[in-house]
Amino acid sequence: MHKVLIHPATYQDCRQAVEAAFEAFPRPVRGLSILVKPNVLRGGVPEEAITTHPAVLRAVMECLLDLGATDITVGDNPGLMGYGANEACFEKCGLTEAALGHYKNIGLDAVEVPFSTLGDPGLMPNLSVSRAVLEADVLISLPKFKTHGLTVLTGALKNSYGILPGAQKAHLHKLSGSPQRFQEVIVDVFRLREPDFFVVDAVVGMQGNGPASTELRWIGKVLAADNPVALDGVIARMMGLDPALLRMLTYAQDCGLGDFSDAALKVQGQLTAIPDFKLPPLDGGAIQLFQPVQDLLDKSLVKRPKADPERCTGCGTCVAQCPAQALALVATATGAIAVVDAELCIGCFCCQEMCPEKAITLAAPSPSGGCPCSGGK
Ligand code: SF4
Ligand code: SF4
Repeated sequence: MHKVLIHPATYQDCRQAVEAAFEAFPRPVRGLSILVKPNVLRGGVPEEAITTHPAVLRAVMECLLDLGATDITVGDNPGLMGYGANEACFEKCGLTEAALGHYKNIGLDAVEVPFSTLGDPGLMPNLSVSRAVLEADVLISLPKFKTHGLTVLTGALKNSYGILPGAQKAHLHKLSGSPQRFQEVIVDVFRLREPDFFVVDAVVGMQGNGPASTELRWIGKVLAADNPVALDGVIARMMGLDPALLRMLTYAQDCGLGDFSDAALKVQGQLTAIPDFKLPPLDGGAIQLFQPVQDLLDKSLVKRPKADPERCTGCGTCVAQCPAQALALVATATGAIAVVDAELCIGCFCCQEMCPEKAITLAAPSPSGGCPCSGGK
């Protein structure tokens, strides 16, 4: 049986909800080394809701200190390619201050560990994981309640992709080869060090084309659990989705990481689907489909990123981050716009995650088979 706590919260009073989380999942912390890992997708002010809100991190830190913890580190590996922006990202998100003096750049020291996915060590036989993650006695993960164009939702499983520092994240995206396989890779990265406890910032969530969408949604909750599969199953249900449809979750369940079924779930609080919650397009490989239907979707309906000319400033961030070199800046009358080569694009949506202007949307290829954002290519 997996317990999941759903507690009402605002950013003003979330300490109460976080205290309830620690009470529902009691664990020793005194004398132990603790790593707290928020979701720091990239630098963004808290109002953008792309990262764990500092009020939730502060509440977790205060609870840990009250429980007698002294050896606490707060860290994450934001972004896809570089190591240098860690401090700046935390600062912009308001998380340095909320870490109460315990922030550390965990991307600077990593340990190489063997890696295999679906039992296949050929994809990338070794990965470097932040040493602070591997060596912590207690790992506390703080996901953000968001949609994701590739995995439908970001939650407990997806937050652990950030245990990988630097360019490996982009490299793995590319080597995965297909969005379907990437769902499994995320779970296999998660398994390198399973967190012990999860506290989800579901106060202001994200719907639509996450994980960096402009469509925010008031949810008014903090969730907590010690099992990732049950927790992500609850997030899926709150989004109005059957968790059994999600490839990432069924793979995690098959790997023995937990059980999302109703029979295995004990909810403390009220679990209800959020009315009219807007999901991202469900054709990115995240949904389990009968194989011939999947093949048809792969050929005809899979969407590709497109830069909105109204929002794109031609900054080039997406071009620098694209693991497949599928993006280029093309001059326009007023500056430049990012353009996608649909044949090179592997559909990882990293550009959407990284774009500071939220200019990347998803668009269906043109009837000719070309990409609508690449001049019919
Ligand atoms: S990151 Fe965004 S704003 Fe910058 S070039 Fe790419 S699409 Fe345009
Ligand atoms: S264009 Fe965007 S979605 Fe396509 S491979 Fe590059 S980063 Fe990934």
